[in-house]
Amino acid sequence: MSTRSHSALILFASSALLMASDASAHGLWGHIHVTGWAVENMPDDELREFLLEPEVFNALLFGATFTDSGYAVDSSASRAYSEHTHWEPFIEDFISWVQINDPPPWDSLESRKRVAFLMGCASHGLQDTLFDSLFLYRVDEHDGKGQDEADPATDGFLVMDEHVRFVPEQDLPMDTLLELYAGLDEEITEEIILNALNFVTSVYINDEAGLNIAATIGASNEKALAWTRTHYMDPSVPGSLRAEIFPTMRHQQALWARLHGELSADDAVVFAYPEAPRRLLSADHTSASSWSSLIFGAGVRYEDDLVDLIGPDGESVDFTQANTRWGAEYTRLVRLQPAVDLIPGGWYTARLRSGIQTIDGQTSTTPFEHVFQVACDAASAEDCADLGEIAIASIDGVPEEPSDTGGEVPSGCGGGCASASGGAGLPLLLLLGACRRRRMS
Ligand SMILES: [Zn+2]
Repeated sequence: MSTRSHSALILFASSALLMASDASAHGLWGHIHVTGWAVENMPDDELREFLLEPEVFNALLFGATFTDSGYAVDSSASRAYSEHTHWEPFIEDFISWVQINDPPPWDSLESRKRVAFLMGCASHGLQDTLFDSLFLYRVDEHDGKGQDEADPATDGFLVMDEHVRFVPEQDLPMDTLLELYAGLDEEITEEIILNALNFVTSVYINDEAGLNIAATIGASNEKALAWTRTHYMDPSVPGSLRAEIFPTMRHQQALWARLHGELSADDAVVFAYPEAPRRLLSADHTSASSWSSLIFGAGVRYEDDLVDLIGPDGESVDFTQANTRWGAEYTRLVRLQPAVDLIPGGWYTARLRSGIQTIDGQTSTTPFEHVFQVACDAASAEDCADLGEIAIASIDGVPEEPSDTGGEVPSGCGGGCASASGGAGLPLLLLLGACRRRRMS
């Protein structure tokens, strides 16, 4: 290898690593795939048919890619558009734009792709909320690591486990985006956006070097992230990539309803962890596995008294209500974190009060209750009868057989580890290690 190409590789590898680490939640390959898997898991209806038109599906997946693109380059303007794209005010503005300028039924391909792109951005934003607000706390508990490690490594694990099927091509509604970004403090131009996207697609979102980089980062982190490696696709762990699929699907369905002006504030809750018939994983209030949470299909104005936690005898349980990890004026999630240990085998209710306000100006008129059971311990085992079959989201386009246990735990690398990391090559692995150490010092 010549000195020149060696230097280019260092720059290339370190830039990719920085991009992956700076992203505001899990890696881009994860976003792309959870977004696509969500569509594949939909019932066979109008929305699924709409989104599976090949060019529309590509636009959806590219929307899920685009959302982090501005973090990839060293520019305050590009970071500003990326950050804004993650959150509900942008999505609501985008929905309003569509309703005013290009209402359904979207006869042209351009219209359909624009709607799908919007849904891709919103899917990405929701996934960040779930992963950061739920899964990362478990990563910290078990592996003592955080976002800098788990974001890029989970992308690598996806490649190593041969789950990567979707490689979207660049396609975005540039004129609409520039119009929507006009109100930001930073001036956003086509050149700024294309500069960031060119970097992302040339370095990372491609089926050549990008996959090798991801796999190399994954391989270099799998020992330090042993729990994450085992559970990043565990459907029983809230916020894992696999556990994000059904909430993303429900969120996409809610977006479709919003675009048609048909989502009521009384239907704002589209998903809840633990999802029935799963049980809450732990009674131990010191663990994030004792948290329950409600997921919204439209941003809900965050107030301190949105929810209550009610115990087996109807009593109020001492708990902390929490917003997303990053806070949000209009949130897509609210967490209930018990302040005392729960009763193994006990039945609890997460109750959302009426009068919540959604970002489109609606106010709910009825409360919502999510009832769930806490996992039993040995002493209470007889209280935990079979609650029925647990649906598991498919990731290969074929419906998954329901599980009685729900605890599908991937067994390490499968067949993909050796080939993926071997393809990246030892020199690149060493370079990435060097880059990471420099960055952390
Ligand atoms: Zn993100």
